[in-house]
Amino acid sequence: MNTTAEILAVGTELLLGDIVNTNAQFISRELAKLGINVYRHTVVGDNPARLKAAYARAFEKADVVIATGGLGPTGDDITKEIAAEYFGLPLVFHEESWNAIQARFAGMRAGVPSANRKQALIPEGCTVFPNANGTAPGACIESGDGKALLLLPGPPNEMEPMFLEYAVPFLCTKSSSVFVSRTLKTCGVGESRAEEILKDIIAAQSNPTVAPYAKMSEVWLRVTASAPDGQTARALIAPVAAAIYDRLGENIYGEDDDSLEGIVIKRLRENNLTLAPAESCTGGLLSAALVNVPGASEVFKEGLVTYSNEAKIKSLGVREATLSAHGAVSEQTAAEMAEGAARSAGASVGVSTTGIAGPGGGTPEKPVGLVYVGLYVKDRGVTVKELRLTGDRQRIRHRAVISALDFLRRELFILN
Ligand code: ATP
Ligand code: MG
Repeated sequence: MNTTAEILAVGTELLLGDIVNTNAQFISRELAKLGINVYRHTVVGDNPARLKAAYARAFEKADVVIATGGLGPTGDDITKEIAAEYFGLPLVFHEESWNAIQARFAGMRAGVPSANRKQALIPEGCTVFPNANGTAPGACIESGDGKALLLLPGPPNEMEPMFLEYAVPFLCTKSSSVFVSRTLKTCGVGESRAEEILKDIIAAQSNPTVAPYAKMSEVWLRVTASAPDGQTARALIAPVAAAIYDRLGENIYGEDDDSLEGIVIKRLRENNLTLAPAESCTGGLLSAALVNVPGASEVFKEGLVTYSNEAKIKSLGVREATLSAHGAVSEQTAAEMAEGAARSAGASVGVSTTGIAGPGGGTPEKPVGLVYVGLYVKDRGVTVKELRLTGDRQRIRHRAVISALDFLRRELFILN
């Protein structure tokens, strides 16, 4: 039988909208990997009666309830106290936790506030999860009928490591199967087109399943299998992933943690190339995306934001005649920008963006969303790609960045 879980976030802050319930998202994702079905997410304020009712309601359906928040030292931190009351357990002093709390304060050269003593009290008989990043220990209370309540601290930097280190091993003993996913990431093919191409594969599968996810300008295909162990699950995924690669070819830029910009940096490095972007409508977003990648310094020379015509002339050597004959948003200008960027930076590759992000400035010939991406590669010359993008100003600029990265990675791919 499958284990079912409910995630119970405790905190009035969440109900007021002051913070977002990212703990539920994190835990849900991790539980999916373990093959534990999440039935419900609940959020309850720091209120004793409502919290107790929430425990009761959660355990009507769930085998495991995972609560986060409210383990702190203050009076409104009541998650553990109400849990003990719900299970009819007394709170007892836990020496090891108290020592850890004292050591933590000693490390900060501070005395332990008396309020923190309450954090060393635990429901009798529970398993304690040490907190490497804060004072509140977590706890796992198991009732006789196979149900379990996990209490985890609210701050994600405390909760996440505790969850992975202590909750996961405990939960593995509750679940008989694991779920493994591989996400194939594509760019340059729309969601409906991808679904069309993979129609039979998507329809035929039950284990693994294939689920397309549309991102801003990308489509991700998540292939998920369940099996008694990870190796078997991965073996079930392999042939289906291979079939998807066959159909979508170089539209797939990477998997799982790969990013478009990461792949671009990698390809540049593999080809001993250096890069210089010159941006108009994207205003530095393209450079920012590339510089986000650790190790970008090996290949990224210089990025320019040349927004005005004067800047395009002065910094990139775009010809005045080109601008007056074709305009700043044109194939010709994009080409001269890309070449000029490489030249001025002494880079082997130059990439440029110029377009109309809106909301104003569009004409029938050059509507909002028209963007040109120029790409100059040393010894190969310039290619320009015309894009017709949709959305508001921010989306158009964001999509232009993704299209530029995709253009780069495809052209660099051909070099290999
Ligand atoms: P503390 O000892 O810091 O009081 P706690 O275990 O009592 O920790 P809370 O007081 O409920 O936890 O929350 C502390 C902080 O943790 C919140 O201000 C918020 O930043 C973060 N936090 C709490 N719950 C969540 C949640 N569900 N998702 C994301 N962040 C959360
Ligand atoms: Mg608190």
